[in-house]
Amino acid sequence: MTPAQSYSATEPRMAAVIDGKALARTIGEDTARQAAALHERTGVLPTLAVVLVGEDPASQVYVRRKVKETKAAGMRSIEHRLDASIGEDELLALIASLNADPFVHGILVQLPLPRQIDATRVLDAIDPTKDVDGFHPVNVGRLSTGIGGLVPCTPLGCMRLLDTVVRDYRGLNAVVIGKSNIVGKPVAMLLLERECTVTVTHIATKGLPDIVRTADIVVAAAGSPRLVRGEWVKPGAVVIDVGITRVMDEDGKERLVGDCAFDELGHAAAVTPVPGGVGPMTIACLLANTVQAAKRAAALG
Ligand code: NAD
Repeated sequence: MTPAQSYSATEPRMAAVIDGKALARTIGEDTARQAAALHERTGVLPTLAVVLVGEDPASQVYVRRKVKETKAAGMRSIEHRLDASIGEDELLALIASLNADPFVHGILVQLPLPRQIDATRVLDAIDPTKDVDGFHPVNVGRLSTGIGGLVPCTPLGCMRLLDTVVRDYRGLNAVVIGKSNIVGKPVAMLLLERECTVTVTHIATKGLPDIVRTADIVVAAAGSPRLVRGEWVKPGAVVIDVGITRVMDEDGKERLVGDCAFDELGHAAAVTPVPGGVGPMTIACLLANTVQAAKRAAALG
């Protein structure tokens, strides 16, 4: 892709829909192949330990899915389900034992954690080489200095989706909506690394529509349903919709809505749908990170 060109309304365009499910499947197959090859060559079986504290229903669904997909990729999954009343010290002791276990390559603590536990302390306690979520300050620092490391899964998924339609990032204007540590900031770092000109926006940003109008690439991660309207988006832009909000239909049915008004984006070059866009990429990238961590451990013997 080159920077979005001027667009004539008399030339209707159909935005390509970037299929996150299909790409996640391809990445999953590649990860499974890499895991099997590593196991055969070195005896190291990539292993992901997932820690779930409490009974949060959404977290239970996420953990179940992560465990299932880890096993489906031929990797080993270890689950630690802890009572919601667990103390921080007990959780930190578990993290220390997983850090010390040479058969564990990735550690994922499902968020949110109960109130009595300081999530930052817990995430900071994970060995950075096993931090497959990429949230540890060491990995954040590595990302912002461009020296590699484990990259957060959803931002990595966004880049993999963009890579299917953007050939040359250099000089493109990218607007990221949302500045969270989980999505907005790392996506911005990854785009900057590709030499995009990046604008990071947030809830206090003034004149968001006009800023978005400058973008060749829009990454929306605000959690605000249909925030980005068609008229905000430049013809020929690529739109990655990270937002997922559960809303109730008029007929009482629950459905997932993105941050972008998908039906108004026919003039974009490419868009991701919700669901079926960024969502499926996150677990695929988590497993890819786990294999990366296992390969590193195998190389170190
Ligand atoms: P967050 O609440 O931590 O951050 C939201 C950010 O958006 C904040 O920086 C806030 O300032 C900004 N924001 C909110 N409303 C805005 C508005 N009206 N205009 C401009 N900026 C606004 O959220 P998060 O964890 O970064 O997640 C964002 C969205 O992405 C959520 O819908 C979440 O469910 C989704 N998400 C999806 C995946 C996935 O697909 N796997 C993973 C993580 C998050």
